[in-house]
Amino acid sequence: MSSAVLPQDLARSLYSVEEAQGRIMDEVTPLPPVELPLLEAWGCVLATDVAARYDIPTFPSSAMDGYAVRAEDIRGASPGSPVALRKVGEAPIGHPPKDPVGPGETVWIATGAPIPEGSDCIAPIEEVEEDGDTIRILKEFEVGSFVRPVGQDLRRGEVVVKAGRRLLGPELGVLSSAGYPRALVHPRVRVAVLSTGDELIEPGAMAAYGQIADTNSYTLWGNLAEAGAVPLRLGIVADDEDELRAAIMEGLGEADVFITSGGVSVGQRDVVKRILEGLGTIERYKVAMQPGAPQAFGLVEGKPFFGLPGNPVSVFVSFELFIRPALLKMMGHSSLTRPEIRAVLEEDVAGPAEKTRYSRVLVTGTPGAWRARPTGGPASHLLATVSRANGLAVIPAGTPVAKAGEEVTVSLFRDRRLLDGQA
Ligand code: AMP
Ligand code: MG
Repeated sequence: MSSAVLPQDLARSLYSVEEAQGRIMDEVTPLPPVELPLLEAWGCVLATDVAARYDIPTFPSSAMDGYAVRAEDIRGASPGSPVALRKVGEAPIGHPPKDPVGPGETVWIATGAPIPEGSDCIAPIEEVEEDGDTIRILKEFEVGSFVRPVGQDLRRGEVVVKAGRRLLGPELGVLSSAGYPRALVHPRVRVAVLSTGDELIEPGAMAAYGQIADTNSYTLWGNLAEAGAVPLRLGIVADDEDELRAAIMEGLGEADVFITSGGVSVGQRDVVKRILEGLGTIERYKVAMQPGAPQAFGLVEGKPFFGLPGNPVSVFVSFELFIRPALLKMMGHSSLTRPEIRAVLEEDVAGPAEKTRYSRVLVTGTPGAWRARPTGGPASHLLATVSRANGLAVIPAGTPVAKAGEEVTVSLFRDRRLLDGQA
């Protein structure tokens, strides 16, 4: 920029990535917990410790199909010298046992059935010979063999699932085993997504020359869903102040968080920035990063509002750096970042030294010997560079060229194996 007079927009605050992240994270707080039925709570973070209200298992039961016996009756039993017992009944599953086991007696029992009174171990069906009501036991068993004792899994008062744990299959299972049909969790964040731009059309619609498909709301929708949020795609709005204001006001009612893309830059048609001026506490600023410099963030009606630039790669990177951690915090997560590794660059990565650069890379190799290959050029309209990548290599500000062979930090945004064989 050779002009001596800076356009007003360029004179706005310039933050480092960390500063911009810090300002956002200071403004967002976990959503108040709500009680949800277990299946709706799946994927949400538990808000309180949940303790067992009773011992689990609650009654002693058989771990095998077989015969409930008294250990002292079958001492010394072997195939060559079996012990014959008299079958006096059956222990039903799902009901209290009715037939006690006296000396010399036995009762047929199914896996999971309560242990009948008098018996203290189970002879599995494989270790007996059945001959009418005469049951020959072919092996001796200790007291307690194949008996599931009370409280073996969880003791009354013991924590079943700790606060802060994301409820996945195992957690839902153990909560249901402890008799909880509902859980107190931080709810999923509902996030409205609006694409702005006169040039945008729906994917698949007939494009006039100069029009392009709206990709940003799709990228964001997918990333939001992956983060566990509820994406609300509001669609496309032209660069028209009134239309935009109306769309924002309407969407705000349904959402906890609002994201726009496009229109926050310095152009004539950048109407989002003009609307944002008067909205809530929104601040527009630049971040010393590539891609994705112009940004806006603030609270509107107390709800976090992110104004992203329009370029599709900027949207992706901005989501990773600013939105994803904020949403995870709102949903009660304590771990807010992607897994990071150190990898050796396979090619030089050049760029503006004063900015932190996020280079889309494909990470291959093995732990301790990771390699990262850029998936294409740095320009922020090249969205295929993201779809071919599994990580963002971070080239810190102050490094004009990160050389091939140098080690860089890579934030992995998807499992490496998902791309194996596709590079
Ligand atoms: P803007 O930030 O509005 O100046 O847009 C910057 C660039 O991103 C332009 O090339 C736009 O056409 C493009 N762009 C803006 N919004 C979208 C979108 N939703 N999907 C794809 N490209 C977009
Ligand atoms: Mg635009």
